[in-house]
Amino acid sequence: MLIDQFGRQITYLRVSVTDRCNFRCVYCMPPEGIERQPHDSIMRYEEIAEVVRVAAAEGVREVRLTGGEPLARLGLPGLVRMISETPGIEDIGLTTNGALLEQYAPALAEAGLKRINVSLDTLRPERFARITRGGSLDTVWRGIETAEAAGLAPIKINVVVMRGVNDDELVEMARLTVERAWHVRFIEIMPVNNQQTWGEGFPDPANTFMSISEIQEQLRGLELEPCEKKSGSGPAREFAIPGGKGRVGFISPISDHFCGECNRLRLTADGNLRPCLLSDLEIPLLPALRRGEPLLPILQQAVGIKPLGHELAHNHRPEGRCMIQIGG
Ligand code: SAM
Ligand code: SF4
Repeated sequence: MLIDQFGRQITYLRVSVTDRCNFRCVYCMPPEGIERQPHDSIMRYEEIAEVVRVAAAEGVREVRLTGGEPLARLGLPGLVRMISETPGIEDIGLTTNGALLEQYAPALAEAGLKRINVSLDTLRPERFARITRGGSLDTVWRGIETAEAAGLAPIKINVVVMRGVNDDELVEMARLTVERAWHVRFIEIMPVNNQQTWGEGFPDPANTFMSISEIQEQLRGLELEPCEKKSGSGPAREFAIPGGKGRVGFISPISDHFCGECNRLRLTADGNLRPCLLSDLEIPLLPALRRGEPLLPILQQAVGIKPLGHELAHNHRPEGRCMIQIGG
C-alpha cells in the first residue's frame, strides 16, 4: 500500500494525458499559450497504463484522466479501455472541457469510462467564449447531453467562481440541478502561476477570489439541504435543492482545505509524479520507466514527500507549472 508519512493512504491517481488544449481559459494558462513539450517527452498510453498497473497493485482504486484537454489527444478511449481492464481499478473518471464530448462520449462509455466532470463556468455564450478565449457553449452543451445519453453518470459540472466574472449567475447554475440529475460544483479559484492580467474587460485576477462561504451566502434563497456523502464525491460537500434531482457541491481548496484527507497522487503528461497540486515538488518517473527500472520505489518516494498541506496561507504558491500543465 502507498501510505504517506502522515498516515494518508493513496487510492486515487490523477493522470494528465496532455499539456495541450483547444481552449485557453483565463485562469488556467497565459493568453499566448505555454511552451509545448516535445512529442517524445509525453508519456505514451502504454506507459501510463503501466504506471496505473503498478499503482493499482499498491491499492490505487480510482483513476481520473485530465489534461490539458484529455480529448484533444487522439485515441483516448483506447487508454480508458487499458485502465478499465487493470486489476484493482474500480473507477475511472474524466475531467474535460466538453468541446469534443459529442464526438467521443459513446466510445468512452463503451471503453469503460464511468463518469465525467465537465468544466463550465457560465451559461452565457459570449461570456463563455471570453473565459475560454474562444470556446463555444453550444458545442459543450451538446457534448454534455450526448454524454448523459451515453450513460455516463452522474454528470458533474465544475464551476470555477470568479468575482466580477461569473458570480452573478450562481443561482441559475445551481438551479440546473432542479430538473437534471447533474451535480453542479462550485470551486474556489486557486492562484496557480497565473499572476498576469486576463485581458480587457476582466477584473484584476487577485480580486476574483470568492470563498465558499460567500458563494453559499449567495445561494441562501435556494434553501439547500445537506446530502449524505457518497463515495466518489471527493472533496466536495454536497447539498440538494429541495425536490431537485441533482446535487449542488462546494469545493474549498483555499478557505477550508481538505489536505488532511487527501488520497491523491498526480502524474503529469511528461511523466513526473506530483504529490500535491499546490506544491512544486515532483519526482521524475518517465526516465526510469523507459530504462525498464522498477516503478514502485519511485511511487513510494513521491508518496514519501507528500506535504501535509498546502502553504498558500503563508503565501507559498506553486511557481513551476500553470494549471494546464498539472491537470487541476
Ligand atoms: N481541460 C479539462 C477541463 O477544463 O476540465 C481538464 C484540465 S483543467 C486544468 C482541470 C480543472 O482545473 C478544470 O475544472 C478547471 O476549471 C480547473 N482549473 C484550472 N485552473 C484553475 C484555477 N486557477 N483555479 C481553480 N480551478 C482551476
Ligand atoms: Fe484547457 Fe481545461 Fe485549462 Fe480551460 S481549464 S485552458 S479547458 S486545460
